[in-house]
Amino acid sequence: MTLVIARTREELAAERSSFGTIALVPTMGALHEGHRSLMRRARGLAGTVAVSIFVNPLQFGPNEDLDRYPRTLTDDLAVCADEGVGLVFAPTVETMYPEGRSTGVTVSAGEMGTIVEGASRPGHFDGVLTVVLKLFNLVRPEIAVFGEKDAQQLAMIRRMVADLNVPVWIDACPTVRENDGLALSSRNRYLSPPERVTALSLSLALRRGAAAAPDGPAKVLKAARSVLDEAADTEPPLELDYVKLVDPTTFHEVDEDYVGPAVLAVAGTVGSTHLIDNTPLYLTPEPPTETR
Ligand code: AMP
Repeated sequence: MTLVIARTREELAAERSSFGTIALVPTMGALHEGHRSLMRRARGLAGTVAVSIFVNPLQFGPNEDLDRYPRTLTDDLAVCADEGVGLVFAPTVETMYPEGRSTGVTVSAGEMGTIVEGASRPGHFDGVLTVVLKLFNLVRPEIAVFGEKDAQQLAMIRRMVADLNVPVWIDACPTVRENDGLALSSRNRYLSPPERVTALSLSLALRRGAAAAPDGPAKVLKAARSVLDEAADTEPPLELDYVKLVDPTTFHEVDEDYVGPAVLAVAGTVGSTHLIDNTPLYLTPEPPTETR
């Protein structure tokens, strides 16, 4: 299949009608195996896989890494061709946010946009939802595929689609990891070798936490925290942002006696790199204490 590349809204509009059903994979580029897994998933869901590549300024805070975020379009196009992608939409900032022609209307992520990752990154989820809705309106996919790596983002996109009656089916793929557990991320390339070792504490904390699931929420958090506390004392240190055990759909923290599905979410900074990770887990009722 030849890969069609659209850089403008006009090019995209001209190409759209030649494709049947589309499964869209929205990305910010610097594509890795995690993105590839979404493309493979999309391939099984629709006649054409479309990938958008756009580093969205609206979702970056003033002190975040917008300027240094990796931009590797040539390599990304080779990855897309390799994965049998039919259409790449790689717009410029001017195409997505034409200067002087925007009224400033955006999507509000609501209360959920202000908690967990949203508490550390004010406005981040408004920016994510706004660009995702714009991409949906431009590409007009039947399906869109996202990663569980960004679990709160995924939950909020599902909510937006439900709340605003957006006619796109949302599908999701599990997090792809390196053999040692580190979740793949475009930001991993910022990490020096010693920083990468410290960063492993995030996925280790999730594994330790998940292993404690049969003992209840408090033990899950205790097990995860003990790994993260240790990482805070190593060199280079982990600056822990949060570790939270939350309901997978609301992202509210679960109670001590909660039973059911949950997400253990962690975030922290190593050097100057902000990393997030999470794992789904299931909290079973505490086994009854034996009475004799
Ligand atoms: P990004 O380019 O980081 O904005 O990510 C684009 C999409 O890829 C999002 O839906 C992410 O959740 C997903 N993604 C990023 N990293 C991974 C990973 N390690 N495993 C699975 N999906 C991922």
